[in-house]
Amino acid sequence: MSQRMAQGQPMIVMSDESQRVKDKDAQEYNISAARAVAEAVRSTLGPKGMDKMLVDSMGDVTITNDGVTILKEMDIDNPTAEMIIEVAETQEDEAGDGTTTAVAVAGELLKNAQDLLEQDIHPTAIIKGFHLASQQARQEVDDVAERVDPDDEALLQKVAETSMTGKGAELDKEHLGQLIVDAVSQVAVASDEETLVDMDFLNIETQTGRSASESELLKGGVVDKDPVHDDMPKTVEDAKVLLLNEAVEVEEANVDTEVNVTDPSQLQQFIEQEEAQLQEKVDQILDTDADVVFCQKGIDDMAQHYLAKEGILAVRRVKKSDIEFLSEILDAAIVSDLDDVSEADLGFGDVTRDDEDEMFYVTGDDDAHGVTLILRGSTQHVVDELERGVTDALDVVSSTVRDGRVVAGGGAIEVEVANRLRDYADSVEGREQLAVEAYADALELVPRVLAENAGLDSIDTLVELRAAHEDGEKRAGLNVFSGDVVDTFDAGVVEPAHAKEQALTSATEAANLVLKIDDIISAGDLSTDKGDDDGPGGAGGMGGMGGMGGMGGAM
Ligand code: ADP
Ligand code: MG
Repeated sequence: MSQRMAQGQPMIVMSDESQRVKDKDAQEYNISAARAVAEAVRSTLGPKGMDKMLVDSMGDVTITNDGVTILKEMDIDNPTAEMIIEVAETQEDEAGDGTTTAVAVAGELLKNAQDLLEQDIHPTAIIKGFHLASQQARQEVDDVAERVDPDDEALLQKVAETSMTGKGAELDKEHLGQLIVDAVSQVAVASDEETLVDMDFLNIETQTGRSASESELLKGGVVDKDPVHDDMPKTVEDAKVLLLNEAVEVEEANVDTEVNVTDPSQLQQFIEQEEAQLQEKVDQILDTDADVVFCQKGIDDMAQHYLAKEGILAVRRVKKSDIEFLSEILDAAIVSDLDDVSEADLGFGDVTRDDEDEMFYVTGDDDAHGVTLILRGSTQHVVDELERGVTDALDVVSSTVRDGRVVAGGGAIEVEVANRLRDYADSVEGREQLAVEAYADALELVPRVLAENAGLDSIDTLVELRAAHEDGEKRAGLNVFSGDVVDTFDAGVVEPAHAKEQALTSATEAANLVLKIDDIISAGDLSTDKGDDDGPGGAGGMGGMGGMGGMGGAM
């Protein structure tokens, strides 16, 4: 045992390849990595934000304005940067929108923290101050928030439109906003105390080839497949529907069995055996008295023929998610073994063929409340980005219906809360006070970047906004189209309070997590991609991110 150990000193034994960065260097390394991530998404913020084109290692292209999608696709190879990406993911899970805001604010908190660190303020004081500020900020958001009636469809429409502004969904935001509000109200259940929204009853289906304005909301579900046989009926009203998760094929084991055929009659026997097995499966289906079979797996040609002869509509290789959704709508069981099937497993509804869309529409009885939103767009890239925008909007509308609190957007809420935080800072003792002020400054990043991305002067905008809020105009925000400071709530820029609170929480937690680290010990080079030997990340080059695999300089 070594001398130092004996004296009670900790000793760290490290291998040759391992690296260690401590104190200021560690903080600098981490902060710059985190800030680099924030910088990457900033230019997409707001209605005038630009899109990013991401090319993955397979050459697949994604064009998006969605913060969390950008960060996920970037395939960033740096442990600190990954912590920031987690902020976006948490925000996406908890609020469905506001991911760019959360990440950009986290980056700005760290930038301001860096200034404080340079003034020799201890990280612990900054962390404490940020924590206090974040708690206070959330309270202020709640205080500023306005209560809405969950039935106020005009307001919900504004919430949906605000969320879609600047996204691929924007061009048809009125029509889509209407569909989104309708969809959410169809799956919302109001009780005395609260309104619940069950998003499991809402299905999104995308289709290429037509324009977004032709998107529609359907009661029930859809199955985007063809009947397995031309002679089958295509539309069946009052159908008894079997949802099957078992192949109507000869069982695998028999296919693999080696058969030694010594004379032709044996072969014939073998074929007959297979036929008998298929016939049995078909008979099991017939015994249930089903009119329609949606099968998640395959259906053998022979079985298709038998089913067609019996006038049954059968569809194979239906998506698992569609089968599950149909099971909700039709109140049907998903049968995974035909040996145990009975009539009680069937569901009831109408199956209607739409020849233009080449899809089946499936509706249950009147009290079934599942709906399907069919999103249309010219090409796959267009529909994909449309779907991202619409999903975010669905989340914010449902969160507004559930939570009932909204705030004015366009930077209004951020400037108001920053203003109040500066007052609050006066009551905070010591160095923490500076951190609270730094936190307030960081919130104002939102209007600054909104202005910047709209080609406006961010300083002028901020000065004007601050003055309006000093005068008590709580809803004063930036109209990015005119450059004027307006009542953004009246202008229809409305966001759920819950998403703002969540953005504050996630941004603060991420910043504090990064600030708490004063020592980086890495078993190898400082990158998370172990197989990447030509990647940067030597002790000398640690200022930036450990490479962005697959980005190919697309940004
Ligand atoms: P995030 O991923 O954070 O939701 P977005 O790109 O969707 O990022 O931008 C959201 C920001 O844009 C919010 O601060 C919101 O208030 C603002 N915003 C949305 N629509 C408008 C508008 N019409 N005018 C001004 N600001 C807007
Ligand atoms: Mg958004």
